[in-house]
Amino acid sequence: MQGMMQDWQLTCDRILTRAKISHPQRVVVSRQVDGSITRTTYGEMYDRARLLSSALIKRGIKLGDRVGTMAWNNARHMETWYALMGFGAVCHTLNPRLHPDQLKYIVNHAGDAMFFVDLTFVPLLEKVQKDLKSVHTYVVMCEPDQMPNTSLKNAVCFETLLAEGDDNVVWGDFDENTACGLCYTSGTTGNPKGVLYSHRSNTLMAMTAAMPDTMNVNGSDTCLMVVPMFHANAWALTFTAPMTGMNLVMPGPMMDGASIYELLESEKCTMSAAVPTVWLMLLNYLEESGNKLPHLREVVIGGSACPRAIMETFDKEYGVKVIHAWGMTETSPLGTVSRIEPELADLPYDEQLSYRLKQGKPPYIVEMSIVDEDNNELPSDGKTSGRLMVRGPAISNAYFGGDGGNILDKDGWFDTGDVASIDPMGYMQITDRSKDVIKSGGEWISSIDLENAALGHPAAAECAVIGLPHPKWDERPLLIVQLKEGMKADASSFRDFLTGKIAKWWMPDDIVFVDEIPHGPTGKISKLDLRKQFKDHVLSTI
Ligand code: AMP
Repeated sequence: MQGMMQDWQLTCDRILTRAKISHPQRVVVSRQVDGSITRTTYGEMYDRARLLSSALIKRGIKLGDRVGTMAWNNARHMETWYALMGFGAVCHTLNPRLHPDQLKYIVNHAGDAMFFVDLTFVPLLEKVQKDLKSVHTYVVMCEPDQMPNTSLKNAVCFETLLAEGDDNVVWGDFDENTACGLCYTSGTTGNPKGVLYSHRSNTLMAMTAAMPDTMNVNGSDTCLMVVPMFHANAWALTFTAPMTGMNLVMPGPMMDGASIYELLESEKCTMSAAVPTVWLMLLNYLEESGNKLPHLREVVIGGSACPRAIMETFDKEYGVKVIHAWGMTETSPLGTVSRIEPELADLPYDEQLSYRLKQGKPPYIVEMSIVDEDNNELPSDGKTSGRLMVRGPAISNAYFGGDGGNILDKDGWFDTGDVASIDPMGYMQITDRSKDVIKSGGEWISSIDLENAALGHPAAAECAVIGLPHPKWDERPLLIVQLKEGMKADASSFRDFLTGKIAKWWMPDDIVFVDEIPHGPTGKISKLDLRKQFKDHVLSTI
């Protein structure tokens, strides 16, 4: 017997439509590229996003087409998202920190038809546009009087394009499993892979994120959304904010401690979310300036493990609760959140801290288990570590274009590439990583790409890259080189060689030379042995 309820597709356009009906007056504050602050409301955002939808449709964009964005967190970026998603086009967010070669690969792989670009990134795109085969029009996200003299193909100012639109546009009216957003992750081996969100998965994640045991937000909050919109939907906040009605504040390009503090203070932000590196910069600024955080209630920290010092300092110096979260681009992204459950509420501070520093418990829409190399489930005893597997309605079942083949096991579990333990209370703790990538300041560095680039050096016989702990960036790369017989080269010749071939921020912090790089039984470089060998190496950049 079927239930007798209405068929109401969970499409993301409904989120902004609800904001327009329920709380049109709530504000959206953006720091622009030139540092100035602009203000709009969800009501205005809805009207403008619909005009933009209509303009895009007039220019031939249709259901299923991919459109790229390279932009900071700001209101125009959000209007672009809702304009595209509203009529079923796919919003493809790109990380501006990618090396131009990766950028070309990703845009061509996605087949983006149009591209929205913030003023900051116009020069970057001008350099690569001849290789972006599918893009026929670039939209520069600025006012008409800021429009640069650009060689970008069919460049049009955002406001000029928007003025082409009218309100004669239909939002929604398609299946909730329709593709909605596309975000490539470099957190896998080989080329970056596209995670393709659906309207349903985004809607479910947005609702989940708002829940009290998740991000715990409501219409009385003001959120400083630092986590970038080009990284896993800004942890669902781009949807959760208009859904719940919380005011939204976006820092644009300025994420230094002083600029973040200024927005937290001037907009009286009550919650925020960002990677540990951002919070370290803020805490340093607060210590130097002596400023406090009277309005901030909670900050969500994830993307990398939250250092104990950050949590303690927020607690003790500023009275701000830190909520540690874990997730992945492939998990939309919230996978676990660490909050103190009632059974632990009476524990002393230090013991509670040890739970809060774990990555935490999965929300309702995520299931989690740990397994050994033969896929046998391991006990949740808080001691045994294994490969962390997840499944749920907001977790990828394949990558865009079928890259990587079948990514689920026979029971539908996705291997996260993280190694973790789960304690008897259900709190997950990451203990290691089986995927061979380095996370620096919340973004990935591919050890394989770095190794391959270094291997081009004429004196290199073999190269290996491992991540070592760094207090500001969490991890930074160490390049280990075995030279060819009889050849000589020093670290600076490798640095010179790598310059221009890799993104600047990928440059290894240290380059060391060894007589022999260790190999495992299958002939592959043994990163495990190298990690052991260099565990006491302190990076010279610390
Ligand atoms: P991404 O897909 O770029 O968001 O990266 C996801 C990966 O970042 C995870 O698989 C983890 O390796 C790492 N990660 C995310 N959050 C945390 C956290 N709280 N603690 C440790 N590692 C994390």
